[in-house]
Amino acid sequence: MNLLEVDCVETAYGAITVNRDVSLVAAEGEVVTILGPNGAGKTTLLRAICGLLRPRRGHIRLEGADVAGLPADRLARLGIVMVPEGRRIFAAMTVRENLRLGAYARADRSGVDADIALMQSFFRILDQKGEAKGGALSGGQQQMLAIARGLMARPRLLLLDEPSLGLSPLMVKEVRGVIGEIRRRFGTTILLVEQNAGLAMAVAERAYLMNNGRIVQSGPIEALRDSASVRDLYLGAGRAGAGAGAGAGTGAGVGWPGGGAAGAASPSAS
Ligand code: ATP
Repeated sequence: MNLLEVDCVETAYGAITVNRDVSLVAAEGEVVTILGPNGAGKTTLLRAICGLLRPRRGHIRLEGADVAGLPADRLARLGIVMVPEGRRIFAAMTVRENLRLGAYARADRSGVDADIALMQSFFRILDQKGEAKGGALSGGQQQMLAIARGLMARPRLLLLDEPSLGLSPLMVKEVRGVIGEIRRRFGTTILLVEQNAGLAMAVAERAYLMNNGRIVQSGPIEALRDSASVRDLYLGAGRAGAGAGAGAGTGAGVGWPGGGAAGAASPSAS
């Protein structure tokens, strides 16, 4: 059985419909990516899956049980956790305090302490910087903290929204390694939204391509990588999107594996 099933979901902000008729699945332990240009509706879909936005139509099933519309804290207890774009760590709190906050929905105190230690051994930089304020970390270190904070909830399904955004090539590589390691070590199912297709295709087994709020293509990574139409759509829209992102100071990086005009990654400094 699939861990996650998104079935004909529609989302909207007020009168503006974002996602239409979106269906996707993720099997237990799978890494699945949603690719697509800026504004395609990827983040909005993740928000619906983790309970930050109530879908207007459709079903979201976790192991067969419909969880659509449940609040985010309830879904976190059921195992759906999102690491948001932009990291959103608590700048005035220490690394360890940030980690503890990730476990807010858990009642097992001793388990939480053990998991803080586990995260600090898994992400060694978080051990070295345990008493540093979150705001004093570099962008890459903050991303590691955001992912570790998400793992503190012991998710079954981890939603990662643009983890490479604004990171240096070195840190993008590190994020890539961490995603693979999370899966190997914890068996966590991961739904990854990425502008950096090089990163996404390196870690995911299957991909969905989203455009204008709809899934327009899906399949194994190899099939999507070799699809000229996908490549053109993604890179064409991605170039325009990357320009807009850079203008807005987001440092959005768009990369297609194997180079091309966009290269393998175009991140700003971490
Ligand atoms: P990006 O890579 O830029 O984050 P995305 O594919 O994740 O793109 P979304 O962030 O889901 O796209 O945005 C989809 C559409 O919804 C965009 O047109 C965006 O302007 C709009 N939108 C996003 N958030 C809101 C909001 N809170 N209120 C109204 N419209 C929104």
